[in-house]
Amino acid sequence: MAGNVWIVAEHWKGAVSDATCELLALGRDLADRLGVRLEAVLLGHEARAMAASLGPADAVLYVDHPTLADAGGLQASRAIAALASARQPMAILVPATTVSWDLLGLLPARMGAPLVNFCRQVEVVDGALRVSSLLYGGKMAVTVAAGDGPVVLAVLPGIGPAAVEGAAAPAIEDVAVDLPGDPGVRLLEYQEPEAGDVDITQQDVLVAVGRGISSQANIEVAEELASALGGAVCGSRPVIDQGWLPLSRQVGKSGVTVRPRLYVAAGISGAPEHVEGMKGAELIVAVNTDAGAPIFSVAHYGIVDDATDVLEALAEAVARRKG
Ligand code: FAD
Repeated sequence: MAGNVWIVAEHWKGAVSDATCELLALGRDLADRLGVRLEAVLLGHEARAMAASLGPADAVLYVDHPTLADAGGLQASRAIAALASARQPMAILVPATTVSWDLLGLLPARMGAPLVNFCRQVEVVDGALRVSSLLYGGKMAVTVAAGDGPVVLAVLPGIGPAAVEGAAAPAIEDVAVDLPGDPGVRLLEYQEPEAGDVDITQQDVLVAVGRGISSQANIEVAEELASALGGAVCGSRPVIDQGWLPLSRQVGKSGVTVRPRLYVAAGISGAPEHVEGMKGAELIVAVNTDAGAPIFSVAHYGIVDDATDVLEALAEAVARRKG
């Protein structure tokens, strides 16, 4: 009989991540189509209460161990590999996020199982899993069929809804796993974003600047527009790498994922690593001098022009309308 579908519940400082909620929705759909159970694997220490938020799963496999208190791939990979060896799931879905990154390297190796990385679509075709994924930083898309044995799927955040509404509380199964007392790697400290900086994940309006903004001085114009609209400024990686904005303002794969009501992307090309972090915005307006820039394929409105000129004109227009 086919094994069940598993999702790994990613949590951070006592809360289940948005990416986990998305996996629950995806996993629920896949399990229903395959006629198997959806099980969520929750690892932690004194973290059992979080199981209640994993509603769409039929059951939560909860492993409690003092060395699982902090996020860390080494000990988590030991625990999940031991569970998988005993129970043989069909597929293990893990969020492809910076939190789960080291787990994703270790788990398939420990299990001797294949890994499909950067999954952007997972379907059931003829009773088996078919996965579409991105390679080479998003430059190539491939579709692969999962084989018979367990497969680990690293699922990109933001590819589907996070539907957890109306789900009944799942059954919780406490599972004991033999783990070494020394986890090998220990978390020494959390490094918080600079105190007092804006949390861009909580903004309704974001004005994002990319390399096309040309200089740090031009960010002032973006600040003017953002403040006129009651929002904040954020940026693509080159802008952060150059020190023009703090790291807490970086949007994308190695930054944060944002879902504002309005996202103005100025001088941003639309690389997959950036788009991953902003494509969930309700309304995307892109400004770029290159009409062929990939950002226009995710934007709802596009302006082919100089970023600084357009931001300036928009800031003036908003100020005029307000005042
Ligand atoms: P560019 O790609 O250089 O684009 C600049 C754009 O500005 C061009 O489209 C150009 O036409 C336009 N332009 C030029 N002059 C003007 C002008 N005067 N007015 C208007 N437009 C103009 N990137 C992120 O953003 N966030 C991440 O979290 C992230 N994580 C990454 C993780 C990994 C593992 C890797 C490999 C890469 C990551 N990147 C990330 C980098 C990403 O691949 C791109 O290099 C980056 O997003 C490009 O930033 P950009 O669009 O500002 O610059």
